[in-house]
Amino acid sequence: MAAITEDEILKILSRIIDPATGKDVVALGMIGGIQLRDGNVAFTLEIDPSQSEAYEPVRKSCEDAVFAADGVASVTAVMTAHSERHAAAAPAQPSAPASALGKPAGQKPGGSQSAPTAQIPGIRAIVAVASGKGGVGKSTTAVNLAFALKQQGVRVGLLDADVYGPSLPRMTGLSGPPDSKDGKIIEPLVAHGVPCMSIGFLVPDDTPTIWRGPMVMGALEQLLRDVNWGELDLLLVDMPPGTGDAQLTMAQRVPLTGSVIVSTPQDVALSDVRKGINMFKTVKVPVFGIIENMSFYLCPHCGERSEIFGHGGARQTAEELGTDFLGEIPLHISIRETSDAGTPIVIAQPDSEFAKAYFDLAKMVAQKTTEALAVQSAAAPKIVMD
Ligand code: ADP
Repeated sequence: MAAITEDEILKILSRIIDPATGKDVVALGMIGGIQLRDGNVAFTLEIDPSQSEAYEPVRKSCEDAVFAADGVASVTAVMTAHSERHAAAAPAQPSAPASALGKPAGQKPGGSQSAPTAQIPGIRAIVAVASGKGGVGKSTTAVNLAFALKQQGVRVGLLDADVYGPSLPRMTGLSGPPDSKDGKIIEPLVAHGVPCMSIGFLVPDDTPTIWRGPMVMGALEQLLRDVNWGELDLLLVDMPPGTGDAQLTMAQRVPLTGSVIVSTPQDVALSDVRKGINMFKTVKVPVFGIIENMSFYLCPHCGERSEIFGHGGARQTAEELGTDFLGEIPLHISIRETSDAGTPIVIAQPDSEFAKAYFDLAKMVAQKTTEALAVQSAAAPKIVMD
């Protein structure tokens, strides 16, 4: 059976009518970012984010119509808001959460602060890799940490929840759209034995997506719960940077076992670490500790160590804030080059001293996770039999 083409998809979608205007979704320019791989299809439906619940049936009709066509193995339609027109019209914080990728996120409108966080079957622990701000190397740390844990025998998965700047496709060389056997549950893509999922597998790089709070949460819920993760000891979640409302809601809605915070040694980054720690405290998620990235500069030529941003700031901040210091990663061109090339340093140069820094970190994270799980299970209500 011949795989479906982009033109055929557009032809099918031109039969779907936008109820608000009576015109078809293709003519209205609502369809974007069509991705095709072996009959697996993904595309975006651009909407006004305050209308995301109202447009769920349209999104579903688009998916169903394409799924019914010959040569289609799976379809994922993602609601996004990416035009000036819509962004300007959108309220800053729409009150009703809705799913961006499909099914309702299971939240009650306005109920995010008290909503229950259901556990995910098959996943023993979920640990967030967070940062107070962007560009500190959070994703580089998350990816290397995941591969290091895998090599230490931990059954680990990696969820790139950084919808604002998904880096997993670049850092693993993987690209979507992902497969689905039944059209509902998404199969993760696998890098070096680690199941991976990223919004970047569903929305192409060049789609200038603007996410509004509720859509972020909806997308994440689906990436978390509608993916066939299998049995995992640990799922690492690469969080969006910062400590805004979207991150706070995420920290609460994802059933996190704990979190680690990545920072560079500068004061300005460290002041954001405080905000990060407070955010997790607010939602009662244990902070395992702080990782200092770009801790010192190792000259690639002479091996000399220079502490260009100052050094030890994260260790001191950790002490001040009553949390642990988990380790330091040097600033080195090999770390950047290898992850940009899709084979992070832990895979590309497993015997290097840089990889060793990540392996040490992985041991700390595994140990902290085990401890947190023990505390959780001690705190869980026990059924006593007479
Ligand atoms: P974040 O997720 O915090 O936004 P990234 O992980 O994307 O940050 O890293 C930002 C940039 O810094 C990337 O180009 C990455 O390769 C580079 N980088 C991260 N950590 C290091 C490091 N320890 N040494 C050298 N470059 C690094």
